[in-house]
Amino acid sequence: MPKDLLGDIPLPPAPAPGGAAVRQHFCPDCHKPMRRIVGKKGPFWGCTGFPECKTSLFDKDGKPSREADERYRCPVCTRALIRAENSKGFYWYCTGYDKGCKTRLADDNGVPARSFRCTHCGQLLKKRTGKTGIFWGCSQFPECRHTWPDRNGEPDFNTKSKS
Ligand SMILES: [Zn+2]
Ligand SMILES: [Zn+2]
Ligand SMILES: [Zn+2]
Repeated sequence: MPKDLLGDIPLPPAPAPGGAAVRQHFCPDCHKPMRRIVGKKGPFWGCTGFPECKTSLFDKDGKPSREADERYRCPVCTRALIRAENSKGFYWYCTGYDKGCKTRLADDNGVPARSFRCTHCGQLLKKRTGKTGIFWGCSQFPECRHTWPDRNGEPDFNTKSKS
């Protein structure tokens, strides 16, 4: 077997949510089990043979991978987004956070939720509920006060924004 193929052996089904079998992944270098670690910069995989084996891999769809998951890009600064989990569930954040990009997106079944940008300042819009119903307002409020009405869950950019 080529050395860089990751082991992928299903264990007996565990009582996991949705009835999915828990899969164990093995280190491509020393063949010990890998474990998923949720660090400050998002989840990654470390070898249980640590410190003898210092192999660590990126997390891609909950599996170890040699390549970072860069399919999803920040809609504001185009850097890669990373999926993370907190007590409220999954969300996505921008790897440019230490460069000042505060973009955070909700998780929509494993992909970043669709997002819309303010046509005035380029920052994300937030769906809000006001007295007259749902509308989209700039996340930079109160610095940027542009809003758009909601149409089928999306900001209606055909309607001139109120500011
Ligand atoms: Zn290892
Ligand atoms: Zn960003
Ligand atoms: Zn704005």
